Amino acid sequence: MMMKGGPTLRGFAALFSLDLDDPDLARAQFRSFSHQMPLLYIILVLNAFALMVDFYRPDSLVKTFVVPLIICVIGLVRARWWWRQDGAATLSDREIAHQIRRTCALAVMMTLAFEAWGFWIYDLGDAYARGHLTFFLALTQVSCVFCLMTMRAAAMRVALASTLTFVVYFSFVDQGQMLVEAIVLLFVGAGMMVVTYRFNIDFANLIRSQRNLRLRQAETEKLSEENRRIALTDALSGLPNRRKLLSCLGQLEASGTAKADTLAIVFIDLDGFKDINDAHGHHAGDTLIKSISARLTKICPEQALLARVGGDEFAILIDAPDATAMAQQLATRIGEEIGLPVLIDRHVLQVGASIGIASNSEGFVDANELLRRADTAMYHIKTRGKGEVAIYDPAFDEGRIRRLAIGREIGNGLANAEFEVFYQPVVSAQTGEIASAEALIRWPRRPDGPLDPQDFIDIAEGTGQIHPLGLFVLERACRDLKPFSRLKLSVNVSPAQFRDPGFERQVAHVLEQTQFEPHRLQLEITEGYLLAQPERAIRAIERFKAMGMSIALDDFGTGFTSIHYLQSYGFSHIKIDKSLLSGLQPGSKASLLVTGTIYLASGLDMRVIAEGVETEQQAEILREAGCHKLQGYLFGHPMPIAEFREAYEAQPESLRQAIIGPPPAPKSPALRSFARKSA
Ligand code: C2E
Ligand code: CA
Ligand code: CA
Repeated sequence: MMMKGGPTLRGFAALFSLDLDDPDLARAQFRSFSHQMPLLYIILVLNAFALMVDFYRPDSLVKTFVVPLIICVIGLVRARWWWRQDGAATLSDREIAHQIRRTCALAVMMTLAFEAWGFWIYDLGDAYARGHLTFFLALTQVSCVFCLMTMRAAAMRVALASTLTFVVYFSFVDQGQMLVEAIVLLFVGAGMMVVTYRFNIDFANLIRSQRNLRLRQAETEKLSEENRRIALTDALSGLPNRRKLLSCLGQLEASGTAKADTLAIVFIDLDGFKDINDAHGHHAGDTLIKSISARLTKICPEQALLARVGGDEFAILIDAPDATAMAQQLATRIGEEIGLPVLIDRHVLQVGASIGIASNSEGFVDANELLRRADTAMYHIKTRGKGEVAIYDPAFDEGRIRRLAIGREIGNGLANAEFEVFYQPVVSAQTGEIASAEALIRWPRRPDGPLDPQDFIDIAEGTGQIHPLGLFVLERACRDLKPFSRLKLSVNVSPAQFRDPGFERQVAHVLEQTQFEPHRLQLEITEGYLLAQPERAIRAIERFKAMGMSIALDDFGTGFTSIHYLQSYGFSHIKIDKSLLSGLQPGSKASLLVTGTIYLASGLDMRVIAEGVETEQQAEILREAGCHKLQGYLFGHPMPIAEFREAYEAQPESLRQAIIGPPPAPKSPALRSFARKSA
């Protein structure tokens, strides 16, 4: 290479050396000159042929015919060989290096051989032919160098070797008559070498920058591929995410090949996941999601795409014949699998799953619509009981639309003070005195007409509006009942409120604001929450009790809880559900069940309230069984505070002053011993 500050000997020598260190450059050089090589050989052959015709002498057959013929044949063979090379596509780096070396040697040999032949026959020609010969030799030399231009070493070697031999020979031949030609060619040769050198630097730079561009392009592609992968993957589970699912659905739709019953979506929503997250922290929640993802992946068939589409939501896209049947089988299997308990951070955790299925069993369904239907079917299951599987039915939509509308109305209702609190008296079973009041929400000022609590409470739970709604009831009830200093107050608390870590603080705040005595407040909770979160429920109940409040188990008898099990929670009261009272007649099975329950609970230090008491007969049986308090239409419907005050004040003074004594002992001796044993 040319050194900085001028050529040195080593630098000059380097101009002629083969540099095969850079395989990309070698390949590019090879590709470039391999296209020129046939041309180079054809020029050589044509020039040899022209000289052969010019110099032909029958008496010098070897010199003027055989040798040029051999040169022509070799030239043609080589031209054909190069012609058949398709650049460098099929050759390895080593083969290319080998070819370059060979070409370098061969090019020099061929030019020298041609020149040597030229010098050899020079004497045979007249002045005219000699002029031709010099011209052809010089022409061959120049065209060879230009054809080999991209291969510096070969071009330089050819240029140097042919120029030197030419100059030396023609400086002396014919008594120096050709000296001018020799000198001209010397300059031409030097000029060609400079051009070759410069051209090669540019060529190498071009190849290098092309390579850099390629590398950068590859890098960019790799990066964007990685970005794409990240964008379509859920970071926690490593599963495809919602975007990926939608894109797959979109592709299926675009392909337009979906025949009837070839596509189904199984939509899975975990039940009780939020509770686990709240109770055990996000780490436990994350671990659970990972564990469930792994288990779902294992049971997913090959034709299915499993995606995590939300915090605790998964969807499986099935693209196979008989998709609906496959989805149903899969859903059942998933229900079983998800229900299995897992050990996380030394806790045995368990969740359930509400599963919805939608398919194109009836024919074409738009991709997004399919996902929406599966989601709707899941939602339908979620709102009634959870833990099951539903296949989409158009009727589900109506229910959902109505629920959405009510959700919106609740928001407006809170803002516009459309809600009201009614109070239902709870009387002492023995004295008939109003011992407490249950606060029940009402929606009298709803623009579309009043709605029963059971038609909007669970919607409010779903939307989270139960929190402001519940606090509104608590605060209003504390204010309303504050003046009834002997009266206790029962307020319903939904599981969502009880789960809320801020709930305790909010209750304490309301008590402080309203100056309501904590020991007068009873919170009613239902069984559902206890079963899902036993440890957490126990801790929360303990804290409320420590604040002075009491906790009642509402709707007892509708679930599966045994009384023994309840004792561990520390309830002070249980409320027997009104459904248990419907068949309450002397000697009936229902009355045995209810009285047995009362005795057991009493034996375990819990007081019993019976709700839904409508007849004197029911009240009598309950009193007889030792029930402590009674609530129901027999004693009063839920009513506005003004009406309640009237009813309370209408009680004879003696009754209002009565102090509710200790629970009466069971009257039947058999039940008495039963209760003792159970205790
Ligand atoms: P619940 O807690 O079991 O309340 C008792 C329900 O039984 C009330 O219905 C009450 O009107 C009704 N009831 C009372 N006595 C009788 C009777 O003798 N016969 C019959 N058939 N029914 C009787 P309501 O007010 O419609 O409330 C229904 C449910 O809505 C409540 O059941 C409770 O779970 C929920 N709820 C009501 N208010 C609230 C609230 O402020 N917060 C929460 N979280 N839930 C509430
Ligand atoms: Ca209640
Ligand atoms: Ca109840």
